[in-house]
Amino acid sequence: MMGPSHALSGAAAWLAGSWALDQFAGYHQSPLAISVGAMVCAGGALLPDLDLSGRVTTNQGGATVAHTFGVLSLFVAEVIEKFSLGVYTATRLSHDPKRNNGHRTFTHTLPFAALVGWGTTALCAHFGKWAVVAVVFLMAGMALRGLFEKWAERAGWVIVTLASGGIAWFTAANLPGDRGYPMLGFAAGVGCFVHLMGDIVTSAGVPIAWPIPTGRRMWRMIGIPNVIAVKVGGKVEVLVLRTAFTIISLLAIAGMITPWALHRFAPSTFAGSDH
Ligand SMILES: [Zn+2]
Repeated sequence: MMGPSHALSGAAAWLAGSWALDQFAGYHQSPLAISVGAMVCAGGALLPDLDLSGRVTTNQGGATVAHTFGVLSLFVAEVIEKFSLGVYTATRLSHDPKRNNGHRTFTHTLPFAALVGWGTTALCAHFGKWAVVAVVFLMAGMALRGLFEKWAERAGWVIVTLASGGIAWFTAANLPGDRGYPMLGFAAGVGCFVHLMGDIVTSAGVPIAWPIPTGRRMWRMIGIPNVIAVKVGGKVEVLVLRTAFTIISLLAIAGMITPWALHRFAPSTFAGSDH
């Protein structure tokens, strides 16, 4: 799938999950925690495609996410692509084809999603607010790039960077540490996982079984058959899937905001004789 669809699917998954937790497990989150979670999950859902490098020197090519912070992120994408190719080459078995590009390899595996989740939580737990600022800054930048693709393109990377900085500062100042920090890591990991699911429905597939070898192959690309696969950037993805993700997100938000707003703005219905 393309960047904006990945970002939307991440936000939708987080909002739907938060709604379900709220509804069935009595796990309530503040509106800030929900928004930050959805944003980090949307950003995390773009992270695996940082392995799609472009041309740093001419600021061209690469995935949506690689342009988040201008040439700098394009350079990071280059490094991640080469690193992924290194992991591929080092672990490939006799039936895995030779490759000269690392796209859809290491960053498209379950261990990578787990690593992102665990790493983010560990960073935040260890370095506290400064790590939170850094994580939210990066994730906000990617989420803005993905969710508001047209705006981000027009605004350019300087505005996107400034906006991300503002969001990061506001979050670090207001998000409580105890629940908030593990939540950031979880949201980033879930985002990566949602990305893998988004790529699995396309015909190219992802090496979801890695590092479990099957038939002398470590990097078997697993996707759904061509006939029913979603065409990358096609009508089904852009019209059907994006609309579905948007509707899911809006329904989940409505489902969570309604009881909260009733409680906040019409407390008498709950508190009885207070007023
Ligand atoms: Zn991908």
